[in-house]
Amino acid sequence: MKIFETENDIKNNCLHAQGLNLVPTMGNLHEGHLSLIEESKNYDGKTIVSIFINPLQFGPNEDFRNYPRTIISDIKKLEKIDCDYAFIPQDDFAKKLNLIKAPSISKKLCGKNRPGHFDGVLTIINKIFSVILPTHAFFGLKDYQQFILIREFTKNYFPGIKIIGLPIIREKDGLAMSSRNNLLTKDERKIAPNIYENLIWIKNNRKKFTISELVKISSEKLERHNIQIDYLGVFDKENLKKVKNFEEGALVAVAAKIGKVRLIDNIVLNNKN
Ligand code: AMP
Repeated sequence: MKIFETENDIKNNCLHAQGLNLVPTMGNLHEGHLSLIEESKNYDGKTIVSIFINPLQFGPNEDFRNYPRTIISDIKKLEKIDCDYAFIPQDDFAKKLNLIKAPSISKKLCGKNRPGHFDGVLTIINKIFSVILPTHAFFGLKDYQQFILIREFTKNYFPGIKIIGLPIIREKDGLAMSSRNNLLTKDERKIAPNIYENLIWIKNNRKKFTISELVKISSEKLERHNIQIDYLGVFDKENLKKVKNFEEGALVAVAAKIGKVRLIDNIVLNNKN
């Protein structure tokens, strides 16, 4: 696998001429990331994975400093699955960028308690896309709001790039894989699967209760486990507005803190599930 560290490295090698399938990450790679890379191999061209912990998307009291940094083992994992290229820029990659203002949908869900988070995400994605010029870019639906925002942003500013959203990969006990799971203590890790269990509980009981009852009951269940809810609700999967009735494609989404660690998860309801 060839590793590139600077913008000029990428440009001088004219990488994009081969057709690039991009998987942007912040490293600490797990099966969730690897599933995106595996899927990207089904598309024509080469796969390039970017690893960059984007300081612009962390708030002042968030975990930028503690975010797991495991670059050596990340590179080994990428080599093992025959990734073609990695782009691993230095910290100054995020300096002197014009901040992009994310549209109003960014103020919902995660945006409520993380002001500016999605401005930071779009700013770095804009930069990574302009350097790499991929044909396709792959994102996990775990970060559902991020996916919607990047998809809309790309339609407007990089119409030549196709955005592909892929399913959430989970641990055996249902917990959505996340680099932040590594920050949980043993006891916190034990209660973490309750988050997904409650999403499934809402799904399975959607004919028995109203949405507000479902949200109230499962919020209480989570709080009994000392899981502090940031938001839990049922939303329209396109505009992320709260819905009053379950409808085809409703998004059940949650963000919650266990100790100091903030985790997110969601499921999209359809006829089959
Ligand atoms: P991150 O390194 O957390 O910024 O994530 C990089 C990409 O991997 C994003 O598109 C995430 O949505 C995706 N991702 C993270 N966790 C998972 C997971 N458990 N399943 C699928 N995709 C994931």
